[in-house]
Amino acid sequence: MISILADVSARLRCASGRALLTLLVCLAAVSLFGVDGARADDQSGSDPVVVEAVRTTGTKELSRFVIDVSQPVDFTIFALDEPYRLVIDLPGMDFEVEHGMGQVERALVKNFRFGSFSGSRSRIVLDLTDPVRIIKAQTFPPVDDIPAKILIELEAVEQDVFVKETMKDVMHVDVDGTIDDKRLAVAAASSAVDEAPPEDPRPLVVIDPGHGGIDRGATSRSGLKESELVLTFAKALKKRLEKDGHVRVAMTREKDVFISLSKRVAIARELKADLFVSIHADTVRQSYVRGATVYTLSDKASDAVAARLARQENRSDLLAGLEIEKDDDVVADILIDLTRRETSNHSALYSRTLVGALKSSIRLSKTPERSAGFKVLKAPDIPSVLVELGYLSNSKDQSALASKAWQEKAVESISKSMRTFFLRRSTQSSGLIAPDAG
Ligand SMILES: [Zn+2]
Repeated sequence: MISILADVSARLRCASGRALLTLLVCLAAVSLFGVDGARADDQSGSDPVVVEAVRTTGTKELSRFVIDVSQPVDFTIFALDEPYRLVIDLPGMDFEVEHGMGQVERALVKNFRFGSFSGSRSRIVLDLTDPVRIIKAQTFPPVDDIPAKILIELEAVEQDVFVKETMKDVMHVDVDGTIDDKRLAVAAASSAVDEAPPEDPRPLVVIDPGHGGIDRGATSRSGLKESELVLTFAKALKKRLEKDGHVRVAMTREKDVFISLSKRVAIARELKADLFVSIHADTVRQSYVRGATVYTLSDKASDAVAARLARQENRSDLLAGLEIEKDDDVVADILIDLTRRETSNHSALYSRTLVGALKSSIRLSKTPERSAGFKVLKAPDIPSVLVELGYLSNSKDQSALASKAWQEKAVESISKSMRTFFLRRSTQSSGLIAPDAG
């Protein structure tokens, strides 16, 4: 849908003392707005770029304005005051977003308007609630089925900073990430909310095949070893995720080596993982217990089976002669802080999403969502789950786990669950309704 910014030309003000370039853009805009462009047809004759979604996320201190586009485009951004505004100039676009969707105030954006003019140019105008500094302005290429994006990150500042810095220049941002403004690069580097590296905005998943080396984990009656089985599974999962392409993947181990539980957590934190998934296939006393279970961290176990399993898993470091680290006090402190709570919410969200996805493809245990004090799930800032694919103490699970067909179904569901999770997570934080990810 197209909305014409009829009111903009009257409201554009080119304050004195601004860079000459701003003046030129303002003048150009005023003259261009006199021409009524009803549709944004690309003059080169190829398909016009489509704006698929626009959203604001964040807080009154730090906000993100995100534009999903059908292909990456160059853009220009500059600021105006009285009232505080940002103007984003784009090539000709078709706006396939709801008319009037920019009217809800969110974070630092009071409202926004969009439209096309002169057939070959488009503009988005953001009315701001407060003066801001632009700390990031970037265009990202599409990745798999995640559309290309324009990201503008804003930080609330005093009025004089807005006038002196934000209004100083017109910034031109190229598709290849070049920003024609050094201030922006410096500000982005000091930004407290840095995202994934700009060259690859996809979330990073760390897969943690349990046990390894001296710690063989559980062993089935027929001699299947948990440490080997989960490594094979984790490699298959990694391959699948790389093929699907919606996340980046790393593993805590790719060989039969021992890695302490705290080291596994440290690896995920060093890599700044967005999700940590530990893979296991343990034994439990009750041989009739079967099916997959997803565990999240809790200082109180959800039931006796979970408590026992966590104790069993946490012994892993003892096997290698490592002392159990006295980190419980620290963890208790962390448990009450905000990060921990948000992480815990996200872990629960992923656990639910994963169980939902696995339900349709493999057998689950009677209570597929459980919690206990697993050391390996204690990263305070990374949503973490431990998946028991099945129990090697159950003969049916044991045959399932050894089967290629079962493995394929399971990795497909896990890949799907991650796609859904990251979509839901971004939707939650933006407060917008995203397309159903299934
Ligand atoms: Zn295990």
